[in-house]
Amino acid sequence: MLAKTNVDLIIEHSKQLVTARGHSDAPAIGLEMEDLGRIDDGAIAVNDGKILAVERTSEVLANYSAMKTIDASGRIVTPGFIDAHTHLVFAGSRETELELKIKGAGYLEILQSGGGILRTVRDTRAASKEQLLQICKKRCMNLITHGATTVEAKSGYGLTLEDEIKSLEVVRQLSAEGPVTLVSTFLGAHAIPPEYQTRVSEYVEQVCEEWIPEIAKRKLAVFCDVFCEKGVFEIEDSRRILEAGKRLGLIPKIHADELFPLGGAELAAQVGAVSADHLLFASHSGLLQMKEAGVIAVLLPAAPLTLMLDKYADARRMIADGVPVALGSDLSPSCWLENHQLIIALACYKLRMTPAEAIMASTINAAHAIRRGHEIGSIEVGKKADILILDADDYRFLGYRFGRNVIDSVVKNGHVVVEDGRFNA
Ligand code: FE
Repeated sequence: MLAKTNVDLIIEHSKQLVTARGHSDAPAIGLEMEDLGRIDDGAIAVNDGKILAVERTSEVLANYSAMKTIDASGRIVTPGFIDAHTHLVFAGSRETELELKIKGAGYLEILQSGGGILRTVRDTRAASKEQLLQICKKRCMNLITHGATTVEAKSGYGLTLEDEIKSLEVVRQLSAEGPVTLVSTFLGAHAIPPEYQTRVSEYVEQVCEEWIPEIAKRKLAVFCDVFCEKGVFEIEDSRRILEAGKRLGLIPKIHADELFPLGGAELAAQVGAVSADHLLFASHSGLLQMKEAGVIAVLLPAAPLTLMLDKYADARRMIADGVPVALGSDLSPSCWLENHQLIIALACYKLRMTPAEAIMASTINAAHAIRRGHEIGSIEVGKKADILILDADDYRFLGYRFGRNVIDSVVKNGHVVVEDGRFNA
């Protein structure tokens, strides 16, 4: 009889082990989004931060032993959630705007009256890098205790080169310190700063000619995003910004067709964006062009909810058409959501995605939306051990039972960072 290999950690007897396997090369589309790659009575062997084996418990225990074992019987295990779209780095808050929204003020109306983004820009500029670090660190703790192990984080509340650099340095430092892995996006074109209200093209020129080269030189961002919207950055300005980023190695992402059918989906396909996000008003031909170009639709169901819109992205049509769909929070001062489980519930109730589709959109497809599909997003041999153990015995509890945190444990890079719902210092 062969000796067992000793490993750092074994998670055993999971009632339903959701692997999301088989899609490391390309996101799941169409009916593939229903296939969770489930193993009943499953186990995982973890060593050196990586997944060494994923099989039925009897097979894993026949070959491996471990110093630390987690008994996941009666519970489900999934890959760590990946939040593919956040505006993580901001100071201050905007709770007063909820009342304005209730009274009927729209997003652009609040923005034009000096509220909205511009208020957060003032607060973020006023915060020191150290203050921002502390604020965002807390936010990351909230994210991971609710299951997000990797999070895309945008700048975009600085809107001066100095303050954009400050925001992206916060992202870099937080990611290095952990526990959440952050992937950074430069969003200098988030809003037109007050100093440039009547000089949009001058601002765009500055972003393209001065800021993007500096951000790229300092290697502060992987992606370049733009808030492509009527009255903000329209199609040609957005194209200019995304192309300028692309020339210097920043992969395009885009806030597309959120409030108005402007052609953002088409632009995403034309510039070869990794994702187009929001898409409430995307045209059908734009979606088909995205599919052809391999652009992932990142849907953010908390955004229309907090904007009090009745309209949501047409996820059913996207999935039927074979457009890969991922999910994100749109975490920001106007949509302050740090619980990924609630995003899954909103995807079910508002986008009519099934729990399985919402889980795939929150794991492997979200990994592809941040170009990390080979590294994370599924429980497969060789991938990083980012794993959740949930206090539920069927995956369909995700979406169904909502509002309460059902995360029991979080394993990040092989370390148990959350246990019994509490963060381990
Ligand atoms: Fe956003």
